[in-house]
Amino acid sequence: MTPRSVASLEEELRQRARDVRVNEPLWKHVSMRIGGPADLLAIPRNLAELRATAAFLFERGIPFVTLGQGSNILVADAGVRGVVIKIGKGIDRVRFVAAKVVVEAGHGLPHLAQEATRRGLSGLEFAAGIPASVGGAVVMNAGAHGHSMSEIVDRVRVVTPQGEETLSAADLGFAYRTSLLQARPAVLLEVELHLPPAPAEEVRQRMEAWLAQRNATQPIGPPSSGCVFRNPEGDHAGRLIETAGAKGLAVGDAVISEIHANYIVNRDRATAAQVLTLIEQVRERVRRASGRELDLEIKLLGEF
Ligand SMILES: Cc1cc2nc3c(=O)[nH]c(=O)nc-3n(C[C@H](O)[C@H](O)[C@H](O)COP(=O)(O)OP(=O)(O)OC[C@H]3O[C@@H](n4cnc5c(N)ncnc54)[C@H](O)[C@@H]3O)c2cc1C
Repeated sequence: MTPRSVASLEEELRQRARDVRVNEPLWKHVSMRIGGPADLLAIPRNLAELRATAAFLFERGIPFVTLGQGSNILVADAGVRGVVIKIGKGIDRVRFVAAKVVVEAGHGLPHLAQEATRRGLSGLEFAAGIPASVGGAVVMNAGAHGHSMSEIVDRVRVVTPQGEETLSAADLGFAYRTSLLQARPAVLLEVELHLPPAPAEEVRQRMEAWLAQRNATQPIGPPSSGCVFRNPEGDHAGRLIETAGAKGLAVGDAVISEIHANYIVNRDRATAAQVLTLIEQVRERVRRASGRELDLEIKLLGEF
C-alpha cells in the first residue's frame, strides 16, 4: 500500500475501531515473537467495533487477515501488507446459562476452561493449556488429550461478505485441526458451547492432570507456536522428527525443541526466514528417514 492509501484507510478504520496502528510490529502480537510490521493493525475494543470494522472491510472489498492470540502463526520478516484485525481484550464477554456458555471470540481459552471447571461444567478440561482465543480455537478446531473444540461447539456467529449469520456445528465442517472457517472469508464474533454439568472436583482433577502432563512433555517457557506440523495419518509428527534425528537441530535462533520434537522454539532473535529454513530441513530429513511428508499446522502470514 502507498503511504497515501494507508493514511486514508487509517482514517476510515478509526471511525469504526478507535485503536488503529500504522506500521505496527506484529512480533508483539504473536506467541513466537517473530515478524515484521502490518501496514495497519486495527484492535477493536468491543464487539460493536469488531462488527463495524469487519463489515466495512467486506463491503469495500478490502482484503484483511484476522489474528486471535497469534499462537498458531508465523509472521513473515517483511510483515503484512494491508490490514490486520486483532481480536482479544474487550471482545471477551461471557454468559453462562445452565449448561451453555455464550462467549465472545477474543476470550482466552485457558481462562474459560478454568471458569467452566469452577462452575462444575465439563468439556473444556483439555483446553486449559492451549494459549488460544476462543475464536482461534474454533477456527483451528484446537484439541488435546483426545478431545477437540468440535465436541462442544453448538453454533457460532460470524460476519461474512454477505452480512452476519449464525452457523451450526454441522455447517463448520470440523475435522482434525481444521474447520470450514479456514476456507471462507468470515470473522468469528461469538461462540455458543454446551458444557455438561459434572462433579466440580472430578472436572478439576482431570484438568490438572492434563496440565501437569503437558508441562512435563512440552516446552512451556520459550516462545513457540505449539506444534509446527500436523500429525500424518496413523503417526505423530514429533515421533517422526525425533526418529529422523532432528531434535536440537537449529538454524540461527530457531531450534527444534529437545523436549518435544514437533515444537520450534525461538531461542532469542530467530527470524521467520530461519524458521522456514529449519522447517524445510526437518521435512527433508523425515522424508529420507521414513518416506513421510509433513504438512504445516501453523499458518504463514504475510509476505514470504
Ligand atoms: C505453547 C503452545 C501450545 C499449544 N498447544 C496446542 C494444543 O495442545 N492443541 C492445539 O490444537 N493447538 C495448540 N497450540 C496452537 C494454538 O494455540 C491453536 O492453534 C489455537 O487454536 C490458535 O488460537 P489463536 O487465538 O492464537 O489463533 P491465531 O493463531 O491468532 O489464528 C489462527 C487462525 O485462526 C484465524 N482466526 C483467529 N481468530 C479468528 C476469528 N475470530 N475469526 C476468524 N478467524 C480467526 C486466524 O486468521 C488464523 O488463520 C499451541 C500453541 C502454543 C504456543
